[in-house]
Amino acid sequence: MSGASELPKREEEEEVTPEPEEQSDDSSEDEASGEMDFLRNLFSSTLGLGSAEKVLDELTLDGVARYINSGKCKNIICMVGAGISTSAGIPDFRSPGTGLYANLQKYNLPYPEAIFQIDYFKKHPEPFFALAKELYPGQFKPTICHYFMKMLKDKGVLRRCYTQNIDTLERVAGLEGEDLIEAHGTFYTSHCVSFCCRKEYNLDWMKEKIFSDDIPKCDKCSSLVKPDIVFFGENLPVRFFTSMKMDFPRCDLLIIMGTSLQVQPFASLVGRVSKSCPRLLINMEKTGQADPLLGMLGFGGGMDFDSDKAYRDVAHISTCDDGCLALADLLGWKAELEALVKQEHARIDSQDKKEKDSESKGAAAKASSASAAPEPKAEE
Ligand SMILES: [Zn+2]
Repeated sequence: MSGASELPKREEEEEVTPEPEEQSDDSSEDEASGEMDFLRNLFSSTLGLGSAEKVLDELTLDGVARYINSGKCKNIICMVGAGISTSAGIPDFRSPGTGLYANLQKYNLPYPEAIFQIDYFKKHPEPFFALAKELYPGQFKPTICHYFMKMLKDKGVLRRCYTQNIDTLERVAGLEGEDLIEAHGTFYTSHCVSFCCRKEYNLDWMKEKIFSDDIPKCDKCSSLVKPDIVFFGENLPVRFFTSMKMDFPRCDLLIIMGTSLQVQPFASLVGRVSKSCPRLLINMEKTGQADPLLGMLGFGGGMDFDSDKAYRDVAHISTCDDGCLALADLLGWKAELEALVKQEHARIDSQDKKEKDSESKGAAAKASSASAAPEPKAEE
C-alpha cells in the first residue's frame, strides 16, 4: 500500500494553519481536501494504519481542561442537541419518545409524522401551527451550556457550533450566524414557500401570526409562510454540507452535548474529525459508541470511552449545564461564566417585563372596550 507513508500526516500538518483558504467557502479544492482528509481518516482507522497521536494527558474532564488551557486548542467544534435546551423548558420538538407524538391525536393526522412533512404541511398547515402555538416557549432564556459556548467564542477558540435545535437559543446567547450551523433549520426566520417569492419574515412576525391563530400568509403573494425549520422531505441547509467539509478536518477538540447522536447525517459528524482529535461528550448517558458489527466491517468512527484502546474520547455523564460548569471551573472560567449567565438572564427578564407591560396595557384597553378580562399569558 503506497499511500501508507502518507497516512500519519497530522504531525507535520499541525504547524501549517491553512488560514487563507478558509475564507473561500465554496472552493472545490477545499471540499476535495476535506473529503480526502475524511477518506484518509476512514482508511487509516479501518486498516489500523497511522499512529493516532494521544493529545490528552488523561481521558477525563481535567485532561480536556489542561488541553484547552495549553493554548494548542484553537478550533473547537460544539455539536449540540435537544438536551442543552431542556433546562430552558424547551420541549423536544421533533424527536419521538418525548410524548409529543402521543399528543397529536386531536389534529386528525393520517399518521403522526405527517405534521412535520412538507407535502402534508403545504396542503394542511393548520395542525403544525396549532402545535407550534401549544409548544411555543413562554420564555427564550438560554442555559449555562449556551453561555459556555458563547464564552468559547469570546475566548477565540470556537470554530463553529453545529446545532440540531430550532429554538434559536444559541442566537439569543450571542452566537451569530457565522458561528452557527443550524442543521435542522431555525424558527428565527421564516420564508414564503413560493419559489418565485421567498420573502423573509422574522420571529416576531411569525409569533404574532401563531398566537392570533392566523395561518401565516405572505403579504406579497398570499402563499403560505413557513418557519425555516427543516421538515421531513426537505434538504438540510446547503451550508451544513459546505461548512462540514471545511470545519471537521481542522477541528482540534470536538465537544458533543445533549444529543443521543441518533439522527443522520448529524450523528456521522463525530467520525469526520482527524484521528487524533479529542472528543468530549457531555450527556446524561454514553452515546455514539461504535456499533460492534459495523466496527468489524470497518465502518467504525464511533466513540470509544472505555476499551483498552481508548485514547481520545471522554464521557462526562451529567446534565449539560453541570458539565459545562465543571469544565469552566477546571478552566478557571467559572466566576466569569456565572456572571455572564446572571447578567444576561437579568437583561432578558427586564426585556420580557417590558413586553408584558405593554401587552397588558394593550389587553386592558381592549378589555375595557369589550368588557372582557385580559387573558393572562402563561409563564415559562
Ligand atoms: Zn410570497
